[in-house]
Amino acid sequence: MSSIQTACVKDPKDPRTTKPHQLPIYATSSFEFESIEQGMDVFRSPSSAHIYSRFGNPTTDAVAKKIAELEAYGTGVIDPFGILCSSGMSAIATVILALLTKGDKILSQGNLYGGSTELLKLLQRYGIETIFTDLKEIDTLSALCAKDTNIKMIYLETPSNPGLDCVDLAEMAQFSRQNGLISVVDNTFCTPVIQRPFMYGIDYIIHSTTKYLNGHGNSISGLIVGQGEESRKKVWATYKLLGTNCNPWDAFLLNSGLKTLALRMERHAANAQQLAEFLVTHSQVSEVRYLGLSSHKDHALAKKQMSNFGGMLAFEVKGGFDAGLRFMNRVTIGALAPTMGDVDTLLLHPASMSHLNVDRALRLENGITDGLIRVSVGIEYIDDIINDFDQALKS
Ligand SMILES: *Cc1c(COP(=O)(O)O)cnc(C)c1O
Repeated sequence: MSSIQTACVKDPKDPRTTKPHQLPIYATSSFEFESIEQGMDVFRSPSSAHIYSRFGNPTTDAVAKKIAELEAYGTGVIDPFGILCSSGMSAIATVILALLTKGDKILSQGNLYGGSTELLKLLQRYGIETIFTDLKEIDTLSALCAKDTNIKMIYLETPSNPGLDCVDLAEMAQFSRQNGLISVVDNTFCTPVIQRPFMYGIDYIIHSTTKYLNGHGNSISGLIVGQGEESRKKVWATYKLLGTNCNPWDAFLLNSGLKTLALRMERHAANAQQLAEFLVTHSQVSEVRYLGLSSHKDHALAKKQMSNFGGMLAFEVKGGFDAGLRFMNRVTIGALAPTMGDVDTLLLHPASMSHLNVDRALRLENGITDGLIRVSVGIEYIDDIINDFDQALKS
């Protein structure tokens, strides 16, 4: 028998004889081998076994695989993979750094998530330039690709924030194939329950799992979804060196939230539709942007590629900036928080919050008007939401 000092150091034996019903949190930085032969096998194929948690961890990998399979559901994609990152931003950075190199260019849209736009601009310092353009103008895109063979990727978001503009996924995938581009879609707003870009032939899907996929606002993580072993190895090789891995605790929280994803998305969308229809009729509201309203310019496109219209909407309070502030101070059901996709209603007044330091003219140019309120409609009882908005709008 060894000394008590040595006994303290040794990890206890795993006593389990039955399988845990819930995915455990594997709080371990590394994995040990049963034998040196097993170790050799693992090191021969390091992307497929657990060695060190920066490379992969059973908790994070299980959750990543689950979401990848949701993205592949019904699309005909048989070999999806998921790589769980420390945030949505790190997923975007990882996929771009894995697939592109200095001198390569990206085509993208001007109304991406703010952090994504900033990241693409930052990457210019490292020789990866982004051309921001209108992705609906196929002729312009064709002309750009014809004269510049360095364009290698198309990066898009549909619907966009907060205007809820949509881009045609089938058209983008086809255009990408014809021009030899890699297509990447940020599917955070929809989740695979509402929209599955693989259905149209998109190559890579990004999620900020922080939002709807987790749904409870208690973890930050992001996901890269792709298909095929070659792609997986390519992305993984960069991921493990950047150290953009998610930790198992956040992955565990994400997994808990995921179980109610389909139910939640149904309720988010049903509530958003009813709230939008109420706001349209309200005397203090001048405009409502929701994809489920036939008045939205992308209603038909959304209907084509989304299974419902989602839980995000925006509306314009009559009376400009001050009216926007008054509404935000009076509303009680929603939290004033700069995130989205949680079970509770979340409100953002971009002019006084996310875009407070943006030049007003520039903000207006991007459709961020003074009285615009963005709502991530929660799953509360809809009458409670409507009644609260109504009292907050009455001046
Ligand atoms: C929040 C968000 C991101 C960034 O994700 P984080 O998890 O905050 O890093 C990227 N894209 C979209 C559409 C988002 O809403």
